[in-house]
Amino acid sequence: MSGKQGGAVWIASLVRRWPDLVDELSPTGRGALRERRGGGPVGGTTAPVRLHVSDAVRDITDGVVELEEAVRERLGLRPVPPAPVPVRLRRIAGLLDRIAADPLLAPHVEDETRRMAARCARALGDPEQLVRLPGRCPACDYVSLRALPERAEVRCVNPACRRVLEAEPNPQPTTDNRR
Ligand SMILES: [Zn+2]
Repeated sequence: MSGKQGGAVWIASLVRRWPDLVDELSPTGRGALRERRGGGPVGGTTAPVRLHVSDAVRDITDGVVELEEAVRERLGLRPVPPAPVPVRLRRIAGLLDRIAADPLLAPHVEDETRRMAARCARALGDPEQLVRLPGRCPACDYVSLRALPERAEVRCVNPACRRVLEAEPNPQPTTDNRR
C-alpha cells in the first residue's frame, strides 16, 4: 500500500468519525437532553464531560494543526488561515499527491493520521467499527474496502476475497502478491 493511499485512509476515517467524537463532548448532546427530559434540575446541570473524550479531542485538534503546518512548511506553501479540524484534514488530503512524492513527509503523514484515527476510534469506544473507504480492492476490484482504525488495518469485506491490507509505516513497493 502506498503512502498516499494509507494517509488517505486514515484522513477519511478521521473526517468521518470526528463529528461523533465532538458530539460525545458537547454538553448539549443527546445525554444532556435526556437528562432534562427526565425532570432533573435545570440550569447548571450538564452531563459529566468524559476526560478521555476531551483529551482525545484536544490531542487530535493539536495534532491536525501541527501536521498541516508541518506539511505546508515542508512543501514550501504559504500558511493558511485557521480552520475546523475536518477542513484542515481535507486540505491535507488535497496535498497527498505532493506529500507522496516526499520520502520523509509521506511516512510522517501516514503515521500521524493513523495514530489520530486510532485515538479517535478508541475514545469513541467502538474499536470494531468498520469505516467504508473509497476505491477498489486491489485483489478483487470490488468497492469493498473498510478500515479498522483501532487496529490500523484495512481489509476487504468481499466474502470471496477478505484480503487484509496493512498500512505500513514505511510504504514499500508491493512485491508480495499472495492473497
Ligand atoms: Zn477484495
